Amino acid sequence: MSQSKPTILVTGGAGYIGSHAVLALQQAGYGVIVLDNLVYGHRDSTEVLKVELVVGDTCDRVLLDQLFATRDIAAVMHFAAYAYVGESVTDPAKYYRNNVVGTLTLLEAMLAASIDKFVFSSTCATYGVPKTVPIPEEHPQSPINPYGASKLMIERVLTDFAHAYALKSVYFRYFNAAGADPEGRVGEDHTPETHLIPLVLLTALGRRESVSIFGTDYPTPDGTCIRDYIHVTDLAQAHVLGLEYLLNGSETTVFNLGNGNGFSVKEVIDAARHITGCEIKAVECPRRPGDPPVLVGSSDRAKTILGWNPQYTDINQIIAHAWNWHQRQH
Ligand code: UDP
Repeated sequence: MSQSKPTILVTGGAGYIGSHAVLALQQAGYGVIVLDNLVYGHRDSTEVLKVELVVGDTCDRVLLDQLFATRDIAAVMHFAAYAYVGESVTDPAKYYRNNVVGTLTLLEAMLAASIDKFVFSSTCATYGVPKTVPIPEEHPQSPINPYGASKLMIERVLTDFAHAYALKSVYFRYFNAAGADPEGRVGEDHTPETHLIPLVLLTALGRRESVSIFGTDYPTPDGTCIRDYIHVTDLAQAHVLGLEYLLNGSETTVFNLGNGNGFSVKEVIDAARHITGCEIKAVECPRRPGDPPVLVGSSDRAKTILGWNPQYTDINQIIAHAWNWHQRQH
């Protein structure tokens, strides 16, 4: 595809959401360079997408300065982060170093290179336990784990940098990213895997004996946690719209990205049984620490301001795309 639009640096572009954003940017005609330290990212996905990969870390200021000095980069999309909630509780230093220090280093290198547009992956984990659902962007933020806290710190940095240095950003608070590229080019592949939908599908594939249901005594209709699963391709599309919002000169803004519909853990497992035709053994287990009972977002703001129009809102379709990807992988 010929490139008529500027080049965007995508940090974490070899990861799950980042690789789908690379694909969306390519399809929209942007040039893309990926910066990824490959700790959790996959070189394979950059090869499939035929995107340039710079292997390196956002904490490496020398590398960043060199990259920005030698390449004509119009904006940065920043996905590179550690995102295991449980690990953030047991090893918070790792999270504050990578997610906070790494992002601050990146932002300072951008300022030095006069790059003033930044699209940032934040999270609904910044809200903590919600007081109201669906959660609007104005909902108070009170994260209950270091992962959420590290993301909230950067939100604050971005607000202050917008005022002080005119560095403009769009930051997105994701709900539960799920699914895979409908054409199966990229998908979700974490090591270790901790997310519900891939674990359910790995169980269907026989690579795991059973899936654990973390908590059956929540104040929800079937006792299991309710989450808002948003298709990763729709998330990626929102990032292109957020980038264009900034390229058009708009100010720093935050948007939730969710489906607005909640599904319980049991509902997800049942949907996966239906789609895969497999039994999928589920074992009821105690609650996982740090899980709010219900997380469902209102994304009206992204729809109204960015014109975001999610295409894959059906949980069955989300699981079907993930299933297609997992079958190809295994
Ligand atoms: N969950 C579960 N068993 C698992 C993994 C997750 O019951 O093996 C539940 C988890 O408690 C949460 C929901 O599934 O309520 C989604 O969890 P996931 O880790 O996929 O995403 P998170 O909500 O933590 O971002």
